[in-house]
Amino acid sequence: MAGRAGGWYRGDCHVHSTCSHGGELTPERLAAEARAAGLDFVAATEHNNADTHGTWGRYAGDDLLVILGQEVTTRTGHWLALGVRPGQVVDWRYGVRDGVVGRHLDEVRRGGGLCVAAHPHAPYDSGTFLYPYQGFDAVEVWNGPWSSDLPWQADNEAALAEWGRSLGTDIRRQGGWRPAMGNSDAHLSGQIGVPHTVVRAEELSTDAVLAGIRAGRSWIAESAAVELSFTVAAGAQQVGVGGKLESCGGPVVARVGVRGVPSGVVNFHTGAGKVHVASLSAAGVGAVEWRTDARESAFVRVEVRHPGGRMVALSNPVTLL
Ligand SMILES: [Zn+2]
Ligand SMILES: [Zn+2]
Repeated sequence: MAGRAGGWYRGDCHVHSTCSHGGELTPERLAAEARAAGLDFVAATEHNNADTHGTWGRYAGDDLLVILGQEVTTRTGHWLALGVRPGQVVDWRYGVRDGVVGRHLDEVRRGGGLCVAAHPHAPYDSGTFLYPYQGFDAVEVWNGPWSSDLPWQADNEAALAEWGRSLGTDIRRQGGWRPAMGNSDAHLSGQIGVPHTVVRAEELSTDAVLAGIRAGRSWIAESAAVELSFTVAAGAQQVGVGGKLESCGGPVVARVGVRGVPSGVVNFHTGAGKVHVASLSAAGVGAVEWRTDARESAFVRVEVRHPGGRMVALSNPVTLL
């Protein structure tokens, strides 16, 4: 299934239907709610089963891509297998001490799939992620509403802080960095799309969307009402989120455009932490610039928060050389 040209596509890669414990939505309802939430793609990630794989074809279309997946709920952490074969079920019956997770990650990747560390700081047994991140392609730093009092709510602030710290080290070691993604983990009506990942893809197809996520050409949005653009330029050269800017030690300008966040607060982050803060107007539309260079900053990334601190949008980094 492939359609539509290159562009930015919005999608939620962690959703459950009635075929997962606690899920109340049929695939038909999930597809309808995904369209209503302004999404272009979803990944169906039932707990350890492929029971809905055969049903999605009838609800997908040129306006909604459905990626087949699974939430692999092991004893010591959950991970998302995205882009699996129809009917493929990845083994989940192990924990970190069994030393077998790498084999299952390889199995998914060999088939062209992507492996995501899910809600690494979930508060319940088996939800806290104990595997090394090195084996994974992306980290779900934002799972469900940014913060709530629900007892099963993942600690997104902790996941983001951990990911932010690892970025500097991973980029310095040239070992590659793992992009952040955000998904709703929807089980109930009204949850899908909060948050979702906005991906630059060559077309709306499973391979192209997964390639965009893998490369970090993406940002995370609280809802489809939020627009973010993020570029970094050195002279005439300009790259977007996920890109690498060859600045040759010269000055670089990071530019952020935001729409749909009244009185929002734009934060620029580097390996040194939060380095620049600017507030948006009550209209919620604005552009902010910040200047640095590659000696000061190995990467720049952006967070946009509501005035009270709740996250609205979060970008992957641009790396500077
Ligand atoms: Zn889970
Ligand atoms: Zn889940």
